[in-house]
Amino acid sequence: MNNQKETEELWNEIKKDIFRINEKGLFEYTKFAINSLYYSILKDEDVTIRCSKELIKKLKENKSLYRINSNIDEFNVQYMRVYDYVKENSSKYIKVYASLYFYDNLANNSISSNSKKVINRYINDIWILTFKCDSNVLKRSEGNVCSNCGSIMKYNSFNNTYECVYCKNLVKFDGAEEELELTDIEILKD
Ligand SMILES: [Zn+2]
Repeated sequence: MNNQKETEELWNEIKKDIFRINEKGLFEYTKFAINSLYYSILKDEDVTIRCSKELIKKLKENKSLYRINSNIDEFNVQYMRVYDYVKENSSKYIKVYASLYFYDNLANNSISSNSKKVINRYINDIWILTFKCDSNVLKRSEGNVCSNCGSIMKYNSFNNTYECVYCKNLVKFDGAEEELELTDIEILKD
């Protein structure tokens, strides 16, 4: 398991490559993505977050594994941390560890009331979510031209600005959110 220092090292690596992502933003988005995806699959509605077709297929085929069923009365994301950062060719993948608590009130389950099977009321699962970062976002921005003179603007990661190579015009990067695509969710077994 990652200790605190390793988590910090992972963040330093991520921030070197993807300067727009911070911990708070990533975790807020992860929470939102889990909720949105879970209820879209449960209600058989269209998925509205950026998500791979393979993952949607995987969730639909393994609903019970992900506890996507109407017996679950509610669930919460209790804890999150960055789990891994992987670079493959030009793609970058951030993995997030999320501890989820599912609450199943047995009184609400008409079918299971006669069942001898023991069902936990609180269930804790660990999900490892993989987000693919679209590196084209940065490449597109690098092609910016100066509004002042039409020369090329070069990105300076030190102060997060674009500087014109000719007239030295400075443009602060607007901090547009990195495009994250959820490509996989694995359940971590002990
Ligand atoms: Zn210029």
